[in-house]
Amino acid sequence: MSSRSDNIAKRSSNAAEGARNRCPACGRGTVERVIVSKTFHVEGTWVRIDGLMPSKCDVCGELTWSERELKRADEAIAIKLRRAVA
Ligand SMILES: [Zn+2]
Repeated sequence: MSSRSDNIAKRSSNAAEGARNRCPACGRGTVERVIVSKTFHVEGTWVRIDGLMPSKCDVCGELTWSERELKRADEAIAIKLRRAVA
């Protein structure tokens, strides 16, 4: 009497998916998009930019800025400064 088992090893992709929103600062919390206003000191003046969307950790509260978001902030600052001069 012989039995043959064909167990298929299941690959778990949960680890990779979970790491996408993992906080880089504490490594424990998960980050979520938040909308904030931030004030930058540029060329001797303070420029307030609204509607920026960094990711915020639900454990340590660390804000994570993506390159795209930093670029958006830069562009918004440039527009505001141009308006201020004109
Ligand atoms: Zn964190």
